[in-house]
Amino acid sequence: MGSAVPRFWREIPYRYNLIGTKCKVCNRVYFPPREVCPYCRRKSLGNIEEIKLSGRGKLITYTVIYTPPSNFEVQAPYVVGIVELDEGPRITSQIVDCDPENLRIGMRVEAVFRKIQEDGDTGAIYYGYKFKPVEEHEDKG
Ligand SMILES: [Zn+2]
Repeated sequence: MGSAVPRFWREIPYRYNLIGTKCKVCNRVYFPPREVCPYCRRKSLGNIEEIKLSGRGKLITYTVIYTPPSNFEVQAPYVVGIVELDEGPRITSQIVDCDPENLRIGMRVEAVFRKIQEDGDTGAIYYGYKFKPVEEHEDKG
């Protein structure tokens, strides 16, 4: 594997495809992917495999942002949350398709592919995953 490519660029395909890594020693899952499991360290060498994440999880916490950073293709207010995927890793992501007043800690969310940012100078548009509440009425937890 070439390590000359900066980490940020190497992570892009993983962010597009929601690919994580799993340590076959302790079964912990990481996103973004890691080459070594921080728990098993040396024992994990050669025991790391890539897995496709389901994109489903639950909302751990969230914040409503009223002043978006420049360049971001969002309308204020918008919501940024921490999602715990069913496989275990936590992702910070924008939460879309929802009224902030209807959000609840612990609610089910799922990944959706959306425009993230638009470069006004070049016209380039960047896409990636955001999360939205799952449309189902369950009486869980
Ligand atoms: Zn491990």
